[in-house]
Amino acid sequence: MVNEHDSFRQEVRQWLDANCPQSMRQPISSEQMVWGGSRLKFANADQQIWFERMRERGWFAPDWPSEYGGGGLSPKQLHIVEQEMSALGCRQPQYNLGIWMLGPVLLEMGNEAQKREHLPPMMKGQVRWCQGFSEPNAGSDLASLKTSAVMDGDDFIVNGAKIWTSYGDQSDWMYALVRTDPKAKKQQGISFILIDMTSPGVSVKPIELISGKSSFCEVFFDNVRVPQRHLVSALNDGWTVAKRLLQHERSAMSKFSEGLAPSHDPLAVARPYLFDEHGALHEPVWRDRLAALMMDSQAFSLTAQRLQEQAMAREDINGIATIMKLVQTEQEVAKYELLNQVMGHRGLSWEGDEFSRDEHDMARQWLLSKTYTISGGSSEIQLNIIAKRVLGMPS
Ligand SMILES: Cc1cc2nc3c(=O)[nH]c(=O)nc-3n(C[C@H](O)[C@H](O)[C@H](O)COP(=O)(O)OP(=O)(O)OC[C@H]3O[C@@H](n4cnc5c(N)ncnc54)[C@H](O)[C@@H]3O)c2cc1C
Repeated sequence: MVNEHDSFRQEVRQWLDANCPQSMRQPISSEQMVWGGSRLKFANADQQIWFERMRERGWFAPDWPSEYGGGGLSPKQLHIVEQEMSALGCRQPQYNLGIWMLGPVLLEMGNEAQKREHLPPMMKGQVRWCQGFSEPNAGSDLASLKTSAVMDGDDFIVNGAKIWTSYGDQSDWMYALVRTDPKAKKQQGISFILIDMTSPGVSVKPIELISGKSSFCEVFFDNVRVPQRHLVSALNDGWTVAKRLLQHERSAMSKFSEGLAPSHDPLAVARPYLFDEHGALHEPVWRDRLAALMMDSQAFSLTAQRLQEQAMAREDINGIATIMKLVQTEQEVAKYELLNQVMGHRGLSWEGDEFSRDEHDMARQWLLSKTYTISGGSSEIQLNIIAKRVLGMPS
């Protein structure tokens, strides 16, 4: 007998098959990712079709309530949609910090007006969000942040600077931590506010990276007026909101590589450098190292699957998101380090015809992977959190 979930699965499968263009079932590279927002652009017609169909269905966030533009699905149904998308190899139609991080926090801690103002535009892909937490002397020690917000009538007046703001120059809005009580204990004088990046007094300066690209920015605030209705949760309660948001960031980061190009499947990358024409790898040291890498990655996927089941059963897995972020990012760094060694001098190519496009990409990816264990909180900080909050060890 077909149960309710089986028939839902069948319906999802048919819908995806009929609506996901074939080219959107190919692995995606970071350049091909569609970021929502006022600067939304599509590289081709299929990207746009896929984006629009998923938007109409409410499946940018399938489990968010439908009154805010979500799909209104249950956790079990969400799991089925994710499984079916993964089985067909469907790409994510939209990438947006709003959906991954801010949205879940607003659903839990925002007031009704904030939900109505900010969630539907995320669900339509109209607004791109950036994260304004880090400052020049407040990264790991985030609670030392100094950007100030002083009340003035119905507004806050914000002054200060943020750094390492990913895609600050491409974003429409920022969710930010600001100091609203300079006299209180560090964590207790911080508030969480939403800032329109077009407000007078906001200026954004891209930071050039070793790869030649610039995804980071410095953002400066010079007497920026922010209406007080953009305060999320209570005044000086920003640290609690930020902790919640960082949990969502960690689980998003531990899932982030899913759906990105398996051009970086270790065996596929290693094959031309190490394998003979019969597909055999004779060198035992490389065999060992590649096998260990693949076993770690398989163990990680199985653990992630188990956690998803636990989340569906409404078990508390918040502490574990930190462990998953730590393990996944360390594994990715180890993978690119090994592949770089496998490729020998060809792994250091940058441009020119002597090396292939894939080799240039791998060199850039190797450099980029160095950031994984820093962004979203460095590995050392994750270890501290695990020691204190998960294992309950004394400080
Ligand atoms: C790719 C990327 C994207 C980012 N995007 C954003 C963004 O969009 N918005 C945003 O606000 N920030 C962003 N960041 C900033 C990021 O959150 C910080 O870089 C990170 O928190 C580390 O802070 P820091 O750079 O100031 O390093 P520091 O805090 O100065 O740390 C330097 C070193 O000291 C170690 N260390 C520091 N404190 C301790 C401790 N107590 N115990 C043990 N070791 C310690 C760290 O692990 C690190 O190795 C991004 C960073 C990267 C790499």
